[in-house]
Amino acid sequence: MSKHAIVVGAGAIGLATAYFLSQEGLSVTVLDQAEPGKGCSHGNMGWICPSLSGPLPSPGIVGSSIKGMLDGTSPLYIKPSEFVRIWPWLMSFWRHATVMHYAVGLEANLWLHQRTLELYDQWLEHGISFEMHHEGLLYVFRDITLWNDKMKTASRVADYGFPVPERLTQDALLDLEPDLSPSVAGGILLPKERHVRADTLIRGLVQHLHTAGVEFRTGVAVEAIDASPFAIRSLRAGGERLQADVYVLAAGAQTGGLTQHIGLKLPIIAGKGYSLTFSEPNLTFRHPLYLGDTKVAASPYNGALRVGGTMEFSGANMRIDSQRVDSIRKASSLYFRTPAAGRDVEIWAGMRPMTPDGLPVIGKAPRHENLFIASGHGSDGISMAPATAALLCDMILDRPRPVEAHAFDPGRFS
Ligand SMILES: Cc1cc2nc3c(=O)[nH]c(=O)nc-3n(C[C@H](O)[C@H](O)[C@H](O)COP(=O)(O)OP(=O)(O)OC[C@H]3O[C@@H](n4cnc5c(N)ncnc54)[C@H](O)[C@@H]3O)c2cc1C
Repeated sequence: MSKHAIVVGAGAIGLATAYFLSQEGLSVTVLDQAEPGKGCSHGNMGWICPSLSGPLPSPGIVGSSIKGMLDGTSPLYIKPSEFVRIWPWLMSFWRHATVMHYAVGLEANLWLHQRTLELYDQWLEHGISFEMHHEGLLYVFRDITLWNDKMKTASRVADYGFPVPERLTQDALLDLEPDLSPSVAGGILLPKERHVRADTLIRGLVQHLHTAGVEFRTGVAVEAIDASPFAIRSLRAGGERLQADVYVLAAGAQTGGLTQHIGLKLPIIAGKGYSLTFSEPNLTFRHPLYLGDTKVAASPYNGALRVGGTMEFSGANMRIDSQRVDSIRKASSLYFRTPAAGRDVEIWAGMRPMTPDGLPVIGKAPRHENLFIASGHGSDGISMAPATAALLCDMILDRPRPVEAHAFDPGRFS
């Protein structure tokens, strides 16, 4: 009889894991407290961006964040009442913001990302249907100094085998994207990046998994975990006790709350971001845009335009703060010929699962031999989903673990 796996979390990470496990012949149940993809994997920007693999804690980020918060321009917001609760996480984040950690983290994330494009292509070949675009990614700057600085750091990706980013003058930029405002100073094109519409990806994966015989149990929250010192015995969810041979926790920003049940410390907190999706938009862009001075992003889709950003630490909730949404609108309108508008607008908030070292958590739990974790992907969960899931699946099947995967070890915070 085939092994049975329960995957908790039907976001991009959980669904991708269910995909690889069912491909390998395991019987898989996906469990979610809501409908699939209603967590962070819904309204994000959908960038598939291996060349943006640098971890978030980076040299200089602490100073620039504090300065931005003081003058009110920062995309980072920490709710005053949250400071005390997340203080240990912030201290750990700041400790990781060094040249050395950044270089090690970049190597690790690049290693994980190396199969990303190939795996996304395989998903399409295997009949998973979703919206994917191949135009690359365009950085846009209004401040020429920032543009020059970014060009220096962006060029480093060439050391890792990615094409050298192309520098675009203001004229070239406006030729490429006429709906940008003439106030933009210049741009940088990363030609190999892609973007997907994440909600179509989730739909495509769910449809495929249904056909492959994966069981879905939605509207069922895991409330407790029963464990011996060395293994998980069952999950308690919706008044039932659910048993399997293997358990995977892919519950996004809520994963750390679940592992507390078994004494495993995973400092994953919610970093809230917002997006606005305009249907039948008044602006047409070919490329996804990173609006570099304000750190707001824009992704064009078939018949829609999405703008989004911000990093808000206000606890694990999906509450929408209209001031934060307005700041995204204002920031993007500085770069556009006219403010973005459309027939309808969907306003969305999602909780990024943030680790203090900026690296995801992928692998076997340190003490419980049948428990595996896949979470903490921060702003890269869509990009890293297939590679994470392929790696985790190999670990679940007890295949040799590549030495590079140590960087993602769930035991590293204990
Ligand atoms: C504004 C914004 C823009 C972004 N842009 C990008 C981008 O361009 N590229 C990119 O790669 N990433 C991007 N991200 C990040 C990306 O969205 C996340 O990294 C990714 O969605 C995380 O996926 P996940 O499966 O880990 O979590 P989720 O999608 O949140 O899924 C977790 C699931 O677990 C379920 N769950 C939680 N607790 C329980 C429980 N107790 N019992 C049962 N179920 C439970 C939830 O209901 C949820 O469905 C962006 C995020 C934001 C906010």
